[in-house]
Amino acid sequence: MTGGYEAVIGLEVHVQLRTRTKMFCACRNQVGAPPNSLTCPVCLGLPGTLPALNAEAVRMALALGLAVDARIQPESTFYRKQYFYPDLPKGYQITQGPVALVEDGHLALPGDPKVRGTDAPVRVRLERAHLEEDAGKSHHDLDGQASHVDLNRAGVPLLEIVGAPDLRSAQEASDYLKALHRLVVALGICDGNLEEGSFRCDANVSVRRRGAPEFGTRVEVKNLNSFRFVRQALEFEIARHAALLDQGGAVQMETRGWDAAAGETRGQRTKEAAMDYRYFPEPDLPPLRVTPAEVEAVRAALPELPEHRIRRWREAYGLGADEAHTLAQSPAFTGYFEALAERCGSGRAAAAWMLGEVSRTLNDRGLAIEAFPVSPDVLAGLVRLVEARTLSLGAAKEQVFPALLAGEGDAEAIVAQKGLAQVSDRAAIEGLVAQVLAANPGPVAQIRQGKESLKGFLVGQVLKAGQGRLDAKVVTEVLGEALAKGGV
Ligand code: ADP
Ligand code: ZN
Ligand code: MG
Repeated sequence: MTGGYEAVIGLEVHVQLRTRTKMFCACRNQVGAPPNSLTCPVCLGLPGTLPALNAEAVRMALALGLAVDARIQPESTFYRKQYFYPDLPKGYQITQGPVALVEDGHLALPGDPKVRGTDAPVRVRLERAHLEEDAGKSHHDLDGQASHVDLNRAGVPLLEIVGAPDLRSAQEASDYLKALHRLVVALGICDGNLEEGSFRCDANVSVRRRGAPEFGTRVEVKNLNSFRFVRQALEFEIARHAALLDQGGAVQMETRGWDAAAGETRGQRTKEAAMDYRYFPEPDLPPLRVTPAEVEAVRAALPELPEHRIRRWREAYGLGADEAHTLAQSPAFTGYFEALAERCGSGRAAAAWMLGEVSRTLNDRGLAIEAFPVSPDVLAGLVRLVEARTLSLGAAKEQVFPALLAGEGDAEAIVAQKGLAQVSDRAAIEGLVAQVLAANPGPVAQIRQGKESLKGFLVGQVLKAGQGRLDAKVVTEVLGEALAKGGV
């Protein structure tokens, strides 16, 4: 972005809650059922029906609130937000009013050093998180004849999380969104499926001169359904605003959409066209009251939070931030890693395998960890052999790991059967070292003249002569001794 500007970003995230039933009726909350099969008079908005609040949705909202250290409002209310659209059969959406169940939370994130000059943690505030209901889904291109409406999603519980304008770059926005995503998935309140719309993001962005006291005019980019789109759309908008301001122009307050194919945002509607939703209190629902005992029960059931887990791993295993975040990508991945770490006795080695061979295999085969064919127990058997130096890392990766994937048995049996046990027997290694030194008089002479860096080459030659079965540490020792003796 052009030097003298600063971006200001605030995200609004809609989290579809994984409750058993819908927000105000007993219809199942489920994707993939035949269109309009999960509906009833309440979610169809038929006259004479009454909504009844889903207690599970309230508990899920409380879990999020507690996880971000928010204030839980003992009493909050529901409002009607009115607009006409075919996928909204009632003619209004029930949402929360000026007081939300969850207010004033925060998440700590690493700052973006490119805009802040440091990666010191920044505190990103969550203004509020409120409960509301989803609308149905319109399909405009099913048959080229007519639009179709599927009301299975009408009345599904949503938690809208409104972030404060505390983010300062597209990178920070994407980091914030990922942290929030990790959190709702770890809490078990959302399936986290961005493509299917279970976790949706609208991004508000403005640009101002660095040091200016006021925010610039903001634009809202709607419906960003991947982390990459959020980053790309924001980078595009920030550059667009900066260029406009540089030319002495002004940013227009408007809603825009991201066109992924074109790699640009497009105007959709301006402020003048903004709707008046005629909000008013929902007369059919009493105020939502939560007691301290209810809040404490939810607190007691919270799992370990991802950011805490990440910090713990980084401290215990010396992992980098990116490595730890990758390991925390999903509860299943985290679960596999922790089981592997515990069973192989080395968190560091377990992390290296998860980030290396395991991730590579998952990527190559397009699999999720849930479908990984080797159990943590069996993989731990392999990692233990390497850690005990019974097996070289090279042989473990190139020969035993593929055999485990192919279901050929456990690591010890494969090593025995293929004769891969690592040789750390000094006499055998001394023999190979002598052969390699004799075959490489040139490098040996150069090392003697001080060209130490060639030692690595000779170690490599010895390991090769040992067909990947030699203990590299013993080889290095023996080679060093042989060179020092000046034998050969
Ligand atoms: P509205 O009343 O239109 O919903 P809010 O003040 O509630 O507007 O803000 C909605 C979102 O826009 C929040 O996520 C907030 O952080 C963000 N936001 C508000 N002002 C700005 C701004 N000037 N630049 C960027 N984001 C902003
Ligand atoms: Zn229903
Ligand atoms: Mg608002």
